[in-house]
Amino acid sequence: MPTSTSDDAFAEVKSKIDLVKVVQEHVRLTKRNKDFWGLCPFHQEDSPSFKVNPQMQSWYCFGCERSGDVFTFVELIEKTDKRGALQLLAERAGVELKKLSPEQKERSDSRKRMLAMLKLAAQFYEYVLWSTPAGEPGRRLLASRLVKEENARRFQIGYAPAGRGFAEYLRAKKRSLADAQEAGLMRRDGTDFFAERLVIPIRDERGQPLAFTARTVRQDEQRKYINSPETPAYVKGRVIFGLDLARDDIARRGHAVLMEGQFDVITAHGAGIQNAVASSGTALTDDQVRLLKRFTDELLLVFDADRAGRQAAQKAVVMASAHQMRTRVATVSGAKDPDEFLRAAGPDAGKLWEELATKAPSGFEFGMELAAEGLNLSNANHVELAARRLREWIAQFPAALQDDYRERAKRWMGVSGHLLAAEPDDRRTAGRPNVPIVGKNGLGTAPVGKKVTVGRYLLQLLAVRPAAFDRVRTKITPDELDEEDRGIYVRMLETYERGGLSGLEKELAGYPAEEQDLIRRAWAAPPPNVDEDVAVELAERIRLDHMRSRHSGIIRELSEAERGSDSERVARLETEARELARAIAEMERRG
Ligand SMILES: [Zn+2]
Repeated sequence: MPTSTSDDAFAEVKSKIDLVKVVQEHVRLTKRNKDFWGLCPFHQEDSPSFKVNPQMQSWYCFGCERSGDVFTFVELIEKTDKRGALQLLAERAGVELKKLSPEQKERSDSRKRMLAMLKLAAQFYEYVLWSTPAGEPGRRLLASRLVKEENARRFQIGYAPAGRGFAEYLRAKKRSLADAQEAGLMRRDGTDFFAERLVIPIRDERGQPLAFTARTVRQDEQRKYINSPETPAYVKGRVIFGLDLARDDIARRGHAVLMEGQFDVITAHGAGIQNAVASSGTALTDDQVRLLKRFTDELLLVFDADRAGRQAAQKAVVMASAHQMRTRVATVSGAKDPDEFLRAAGPDAGKLWEELATKAPSGFEFGMELAAEGLNLSNANHVELAARRLREWIAQFPAALQDDYRERAKRWMGVSGHLLAAEPDDRRTAGRPNVPIVGKNGLGTAPVGKKVTVGRYLLQLLAVRPAAFDRVRTKITPDELDEEDRGIYVRMLETYERGGLSGLEKELAGYPAEEQDLIRRAWAAPPPNVDEDVAVELAERIRLDHMRSRHSGIIRELSEAERGSDSERVARLETEARELARAIAEMERRG
């Protein structure tokens, strides 16, 4: 029985839909006690203040103070109205609705028709490419680019023949030409918009074609690529090319490889790099990063080797970090883009790729090198120029990262501090680690109080993600921590070994008050990067600091021993100092 769009319909849909599942398609949620927390999709933030209550089927954001139920969530996220949200959710819940408003129905029907038309077109072009003589030029082009049929079919590549092929096909199937025109497939006169081109469907993350990009097969054609116009089904800058095929591998490998062009991705998949995707036709947008963030926290950027490509990579690094994503940047050498690089490598592509990916520096390191590119850092003017570039670049990052980046840049360049110090202007961004920022609801959005040391940061991180203990405990011993962090570290480690992931929640009440306080605060406002790799990095830094201070202790002891002319003790201390110095150098080299 169809349900009318009265309150009954809302109630029925609501009873069949789980808010948590709906939200999870857009926000990565972590369960804490009975609630789920994540980064608010409706405002920019560094630490999760968006809470979903599964019992009440309600959500609330402590940052922007928006709140509501599953309908309001869908309304905001899909940029629709209440009825639109009902429509979407009813479809999902299998509840049939009666009586849509006429405009509503028209809009929803027209989008549906358009999507069906795009699907049909993709099938038609693919058929022409592989199963008709007319597809020959397309097959030749693919062969010249070393794309095998099996790989081409995964991407559903096709060929649009000259003339009115698709229009005739539609007429034969008694389908509407108007729909095809509206979807940007056909001109008014019925000629194919993509005629004499290889067509590549741009599909959403579920595999539905939304548009096409098409490459000419003619030598004399000036416009190598043309794209579908934007339509109600296709908004440029919201789609990630290849994501439907790559999503499983992205999850498996823990990162996505982000390239620029469609052919980069197609060739990459052919070479076994099946977590490759592309921003496709635009510079990377916030929407695209948000989409990727649903699947991973880390991007390996492989942009074109020219200056424009490297600058695009530099921008992408900043954009990703605004969404708390880690980046690394790989540079293809001796080729203009990843496509050319992989094709030139032939059967060695997989191996060469692994090498390239393994040595890819972090996005920040890459940016530092780019800032100094073409400059001679033994020349004072050049140093100043590089420092200015770096200073401007660092100022674009989220405030919480800037101090650390400035410090690293300083060490890397060996520049005296003032050259990298932030301009007053750079500091206007909110959320600096040591400045308490209090929102209008009175909740702090940044850790308040004393400076967060490396040890504290690690403790906060372990409080939020106890699983990181598995790796951290092999990296440091408690005596390497500062005295004030040692007790709580040992207590938390024991709790974890006894009670696993949920141990801390159960045993917290037995902790000394100030330790409880630290842990609760970490839960309420987790550090910016809650990530096991970051935990390991912190642990290594703590060990390194500890080794350095032991080293200087031994050197002090050594001069004492030399004065007392205890030659055996001197020899022992010398050996110890040497071994320690070697270990420190080794760690510094790796870190
Ligand atoms: Zn919010």
